[in-house]
Amino acid sequence: MVNFNSLRNLHFLFKKKRNQPYLDSEAKYRDIVEHSLTGVYIIQDDSFRYVNKKFCEIFGYSYEEIVDKMSPVSLAFESDKNIVKENIRKRISKESKSIEYEFRGVKKDGSIVWIRVLGNLMPYKGKPAISGMLIDFTDRKLVEEALYIGEERLRVTLEATKIGIWDWNVESDIWFASPIYYTMLGYEPVAEPSDRTVWFTRIHPDDREYVRAKINNVLAYKEDSYDYEARMLHANGSYRWHQVKGHIIDKDNQGKIKRIVGIRKDINDFKQVEEELRISKNRLRVLIDTLPDLVWLKDPQGVYLQCNQRFEQLYGAAEKEIVGKTDYNFVNKEFADFFRQKDNEAAVADKPSINEEELTFADGHKEIIETIKTPIYESDGTFIGVLGIGRDITQRKKAEQELIKNEALISTAVENLPIVFYLIDKSGIFNLSIGAGLKGLCLLPNQIVGQSVFDLYKDFPQTIEAINKALSGESAIFESNVNGVHYLSIVNPISMSDKQAGIVGVGLDITDRKKAESDLLKAKEKAEESDRLKSAFLANMSHEIRTPMNGILGFAGLLNEPKLSGEQQKKYIRIIEESGERMLNIINDIINISKIESGIIDIHLSETNINNQLQFVYDSLKLDAYHKKLKLSFRCELDEYESIIITDGEKFYGILSNLVKNAIKYTDKGTIEFGYAVKGEKMEFYVKDTGIGIPKEKIEVIFERFIQADIADKMARQGVGLGLAISKAYVEMLGGKIWVDSEESKGSTFFFTLPSNIDIDKKVKILAAVHPDTEEKTVIPENLGLKVLIAEDDKTSEMLISIELEKFSREILKVNTGTHAVETCHNNPDIDLVLMDIQMPGMNGYEATREIREFNKEVIIIAQTAFVLEGDKEKAIGAGCNNYISKPINPNILLSLVQSYFAK
Ligand code: ADP
Repeated sequence: MVNFNSLRNLHFLFKKKRNQPYLDSEAKYRDIVEHSLTGVYIIQDDSFRYVNKKFCEIFGYSYEEIVDKMSPVSLAFESDKNIVKENIRKRISKESKSIEYEFRGVKKDGSIVWIRVLGNLMPYKGKPAISGMLIDFTDRKLVEEALYIGEERLRVTLEATKIGIWDWNVESDIWFASPIYYTMLGYEPVAEPSDRTVWFTRIHPDDREYVRAKINNVLAYKEDSYDYEARMLHANGSYRWHQVKGHIIDKDNQGKIKRIVGIRKDINDFKQVEEELRISKNRLRVLIDTLPDLVWLKDPQGVYLQCNQRFEQLYGAAEKEIVGKTDYNFVNKEFADFFRQKDNEAAVADKPSINEEELTFADGHKEIIETIKTPIYESDGTFIGVLGIGRDITQRKKAEQELIKNEALISTAVENLPIVFYLIDKSGIFNLSIGAGLKGLCLLPNQIVGQSVFDLYKDFPQTIEAINKALSGESAIFESNVNGVHYLSIVNPISMSDKQAGIVGVGLDITDRKKAESDLLKAKEKAEESDRLKSAFLANMSHEIRTPMNGILGFAGLLNEPKLSGEQQKKYIRIIEESGERMLNIINDIINISKIESGIIDIHLSETNINNQLQFVYDSLKLDAYHKKLKLSFRCELDEYESIIITDGEKFYGILSNLVKNAIKYTDKGTIEFGYAVKGEKMEFYVKDTGIGIPKEKIEVIFERFIQADIADKMARQGVGLGLAISKAYVEMLGGKIWVDSEESKGSTFFFTLPSNIDIDKKVKILAAVHPDTEEKTVIPENLGLKVLIAEDDKTSEMLISIELEKFSREILKVNTGTHAVETCHNNPDIDLVLMDIQMPGMNGYEATREIREFNKEVIIIAQTAFVLEGDKEKAIGAGCNNYISKPINPNILLSLVQSYFAK
């Protein structure tokens, strides 16, 4: 409001001047007026008679331009000219005492100024005039205008938002309300003041007391305003929620309330929404509180905004104590940092993140919690914070761990079992394959997982058949041989909730068992074969022994016939000799094989002339071949100087002569040829015949002892099936191999190899040594006149020896024990030669020799034993014998031995 106090005072000054003219001070007052901050003027006869400086300033004209020239109306804005005219008229006509009004003036530059005028009637120069003051309040007017526009807007807004306005004059209890006030409750608007009490009756009975108390609070000066929500009766009989606000806006000097102004607003919809919201909020609250999960919400800074009851248990604090705080208030920094980091991760990831945490609750118990942290946004996209939901998975974890432990245990067990354990799904795909048995298949655990059994085992019809059977719901057992590994497999259908889910299979490596089975079968066959062979062997043996025995006994008996001619005698004796030789052969073979088997055969390597050996074999067997009308020949590839190898000559002779003997034996017509060829480091010998040949299936086994290709046939051909076994053993001992090529009824070629292990230079030297220029000839002396002692318990042997030695001896003494031998030697120091049997009852030959040597070192002692065992010779020599001769005694060997000691 424009304050006119100063104006009034100024006016008083003018008045003073008029009533009591302080003429002396008039100039002074003029000066004041002249410099006043208010425009001052005097109007008379519709023209300005005086204006001060400020007046000129306000309108932009000079004193001269205004005074006596311009009328007040000329300074007014077109549409306000009347206001000015009228007011001046009223004042001049004394219709009004003083004038106070506003108008819009027009400045010299045409711009508009808001002018407030206070004018009074006064005489000037004897005539009525109006003196006044005016101020320019253009600035304020602009503000007021803006305010007015604001008020207008407010009115429109209130109407639009259906806000009713009321004005209550408390003193007079007059009460006005805006039209909306009525219409929003369905009543007709009333222009006159209403009865406030009517409105009170429209308040819902349940809310009345509450409303009354609210109002009374203000009336009792306890509050400056009231604000309540209550249900109001609508004209249609329903109740609607209204919000009412009232403010004291005027009090008298004593502070008594004069007016209360306020608004009323329909908030029914809002209330309803609020109610619904409250209900759903409550429900939600109940829901999250009933949840067995921990639920919490934190703002982006990690400050708790909300949590449920279960969460309260974690921190042992009520929600209101938790809200506003962070984890740092409840757990140690390490944990709080961890939670913070996880929250941030969820926020950054912009999607739920899951992790597991072991949490200690306020009461000390621990739980493994699986948390899901989800970033939460307002509908406008503002990030609210992170919602956490934590579920107790302790039991599940335990069960899982238990399961893992069990699984680990089971799979470790299966991994170590010599089986293959596998699962196949219903489309035939391997889901699992474990077990130590996989090694046999060259597979890693689960290597074939994802592959189809039908592809992998397409070449195993038995497997595929069994799998198909199992897939159709039946168990199946099958055997397979994969890379030489035998598997026995069982496949079983597995069903889950009554549906075929796949197959479980177990494969057992039965290779060893299979082998054992077949070994057993072979062994059985072999045992049966052996049994057969044994019987055959015994039959053969008995045949082999009986035949010569018959010959010997039979013809020996015949020799007793007194009328026997000399010719006949000779014939019988030859038969007896042949038979004896045949027997001796058998026995030699048996002894040799038993020596081989007991491993007591020694090898005596020496330079051996192969050509010579071949010649010997030929010489000794050519007669036999001749008798069977077979052509026997041999071929030497090397000349004599080169044909020397280091080997055991005796055994070489044994091998070769055995093969040639066999060739003669098993060939009925044709030729037999033997010889050798140099094959690199080896000499390859062969004996080729055109005989009966050997069936294919026997080719391998004829080298085993007692095996004969065809026993029935061989009975007729003599032999006990040891020759090849002995030959094979000898060949191998000498570092070679033996084999045969043969075709039945066409012939056979036996081969054997020996190392050719000597250089040429050496061979030449050796030959020079064994072939001196002069050949030595053995002269057999008539009689050496020896005194001989024969120590022998076997009468026959003793006789044979004495017959042979008679030719050389002057006297032969005979004893049959070792003790007697020693005694006899003692008593006859002139004995030249002792034939000492080793196997004598009581004191044996070795001991007897040792004792004789005690007193006679000169006498020649030759040991004789039935067992041609290696080492016997050494033993005999060790005991003091000069030499050794094996039984049965070969008279030639005996004679040459004797000669070697006594011939002059
Ligand atoms: P034996 O001749 O005493 O039966 P061997 O061990 O020497 O015993 O031979 C074993 C078997 O091998 C003979 O029984 C015979 O069936 C067969 N055999 C050996 N040599 C020949 C050959 N040259 N031709 C045909 N069969 C042979």
